[in-house]
Amino acid sequence: MSTLEIKDLHVSIEGKNILKGVNLTMKTGEIHAIMGPNGTGKSTLSEAIMGHPAYKVTKGEVLLNGENILDLPVDERARAGLFLAMQYPAEIPGVTNAEFIRGAINARRPEDDAISIKNFLKQLDETMSVLDMTEEMADRYLNEGFSGGEKKRNEILQLMMIKPKFAILDEIDSGLDIDALKVVSRGVNKMRGPEFGSLIITHYQRLLNYIVPDVVHVMMGGRIVEQGGPELAKRLEDEGYAGIRDELGLDI
Ligand code: ADP
Ligand code: MG
Ligand code: MG
Repeated sequence: MSTLEIKDLHVSIEGKNILKGVNLTMKTGEIHAIMGPNGTGKSTLSEAIMGHPAYKVTKGEVLLNGENILDLPVDERARAGLFLAMQYPAEIPGVTNAEFIRGAINARRPEDDAISIKNFLKQLDETMSVLDMTEEMADRYLNEGFSGGEKKRNEILQLMMIKPKFAILDEIDSGLDIDALKVVSRGVNKMRGPEFGSLIITHYQRLLNYIVPDVVHVMMGGRIVEQGGPELAKRLEDEGYAGIRDELGLDI
């Protein structure tokens, strides 16, 4: 079992304080959701955990199995078992999807223990069929010309192949039609197990009907202001964020 602990995390961008003391602890085996209105710092949290240089941590720590990861470069955080499916996945012309994923897997393994091509292709083939992806998508350049839905599906393909300890999924549901949403959810649910944890960031409750979280956190104004079970997401769907804002007397 692994743990991810975010303690009193303060993060600023271009001198502006965005995260103002975020606390969140999770273990592998669990799925947590973070819900919150636009501009509240959800993507800032995910980028700060992964080590994006524009996001300055001014206070607090992020511990993976008790070790502070905030001093590690991005690639070492990935090797330590963290994965981020980005809100806006990058396109990389000239690198095929399959090459990219194999590179990402091997970067996380010891140099003398690269995955064999045969084993890699077998796993890739099986995983793509779970995600209803056509074979030719493996040979296309990474995300180039992919539709919004294909990019999101592709993030889940990477996730399933790389098998991180903790995956942060930042608005993996945005722009997905209901069929694509079901496919993406099927992939994440297949990963569920004692060696995998996920932090799912979303505006909408809809995704959480398909990936039922163990814990729901509500983020507003750069802090977690409320926590609960899946019923909290349903309440937000009914009342909007205004309900919580009023109940807690928040001025944000
Ligand atoms: P969310 O993901 O919850 O919608 P973000 O973390 O993307 O929110 O943004 C939080 C705040 O930080 C917003 O006010 C946004 O305008 C600001 N912000 C995010 N990224 C940048 C950036 N690169 N430069 C300046 N401000 C930013
Ligand atoms: Mg946003
Ligand atoms: Mg965001």
